Amino acid sequence: MKALHLYNTLTRKKELLKPLFPPKVRIYTCGPTVYGHTHLGHMRTYTNTDILIRVLKYFRFKPFQVMNITDVGHLLGDRDLGEDKMEKAARQEKKDAWEIAKEYTKEFFLVMKKLNIEKADIVSKATDNIPQMILLVQELERRGFTYKIKDGIYFDTSKVPDYGKLSHMPLKKLLEGARVEINPEKRNPTDFALWKFTPKGIHRQMEWASPWNKKSFPGWHIECSTMAMRYLSYCFAGGKFYPQRFETIDIHTGGIDLVPVHHTNEIAQTEAATGKKFVNYWMHNEFLQVDGKKMSKSLGNFYTLSDLEGRGYKDLMPLRYLFLNTHYRKKMNFTWKSLAGAKTACENIIREVNVVNGLRDQKKEKYYLAEFANKLVNDLNMPQAIAVLHEVLGDNSLPSFSKKEIVMNFDQVLGLNLLEKAKEIRKSRQKKLPSKIVSLAKKRETLREKGKWAEADKIRKKIEELGYRVEDTSEGTDIKLI
Ligand code: AMP
Ligand code: ZN
Repeated sequence: MKALHLYNTLTRKKELLKPLFPPKVRIYTCGPTVYGHTHLGHMRTYTNTDILIRVLKYFRFKPFQVMNITDVGHLLGDRDLGEDKMEKAARQEKKDAWEIAKEYTKEFFLVMKKLNIEKADIVSKATDNIPQMILLVQELERRGFTYKIKDGIYFDTSKVPDYGKLSHMPLKKLLEGARVEINPEKRNPTDFALWKFTPKGIHRQMEWASPWNKKSFPGWHIECSTMAMRYLSYCFAGGKFYPQRFETIDIHTGGIDLVPVHHTNEIAQTEAATGKKFVNYWMHNEFLQVDGKKMSKSLGNFYTLSDLEGRGYKDLMPLRYLFLNTHYRKKMNFTWKSLAGAKTACENIIREVNVVNGLRDQKKEKYYLAEFANKLVNDLNMPQAIAVLHEVLGDNSLPSFSKKEIVMNFDQVLGLNLLEKAKEIRKSRQKKLPSKIVSLAKKRETLREKGKWAEADKIRKKIEELGYRVEDTSEGTDIKLI
């Protein structure tokens, strides 16, 4: 395990990662709200989270990641007012809300797979955690942190002295944000809904009976605290909640927009219920923007998988490469031109690792691996890590065999499938060879297997006379037009 430093939103500092139970690193990742298409903004955030997981594995930690799927309770305004995003999508698309959730969850994981993002160890839907969420709200009720008003059970933020510590915003500023959408019955503007009641006269597709109301549904934040406690600390068993079992989570990830409300409230309710620190390291991804504005469904400035495919990007590795070129804590402006540039860059890299022969220079290999690791341990500095990759490829004195070994090693983190791509290209090129050349190559291969080197060499010369070059690499034989 290497000394890995990560920037912690809670302390505003880069800190040495010290997991509670090393080498295990327990991670909670806020997943998508599955009411619409997965867009490039989501793709960026989850690619960066995937880099974190891969870096941890690279340095021999054992990450264990839990991700939620928000399929109920996320209201339009993030502050417990307005329509539920799922119900609205169902109404607009004239479909069942459960069907909407299923469809968009499927799309999300399809996109994740295409981006080579490893699936979390546990993925769980909010709607599969209703009894546990109720138990948690009851615990908060017992501990005196809640109150009931017309539209639900609310968390009283004035009972938490350090409320808002994650955002580092003065309470005044937090209050200003909260006042935008005010519910006059709330005791404090920052108070938030733990459990909501279906309004009279409204028909909801997703609702449950709870101890407080026959027709009700969870607030948005409660699902993440519940799942973190359920799957990372095993706090629920036999229909009961055991807050004393809770152990502080190592890392919590999400987009930067989640800091002032969603994550702030996750902290408040979890720490109120357990009396323990919720999370040690908070990591937040900056936005992907278009023309200087956050890419989002609400602004309508988003691109999805079908936009990418429509423009010929069936393979999403250039997009992944493009994401890696901006540090996760920096805003990134997306343009189709930059994606085209990333595609060319990827093709060039693949070309470089396509031919592999010669000797190895182990000293240099060691040097480059150390350089690469130095960039990773500094808060996952992927743009600099990519620069090391280019240094390797551009090093004319480095044998190509060594280049291949290094690239294969780096790709455990980059996740760009570089060698697989190189192999594919080689194969497709071989498929296009004239049948005469293919049969000569096969004959040569058989002779080589039998150790008949002189005869094999004669065939090689014959192939060359026909205008093709034979290269024997560690991956097999490569034949190219001269
Ligand atoms: P949502 O589906 O809106 O709940 O978002 C799922 C995750 O994607 C959250 O962590 C968001 O912060 C993140 N996200 C949404 N839009 C963007 C964006 N434009 N850039 C980066 N991350 C985003
Ligand atoms: Zn969350």
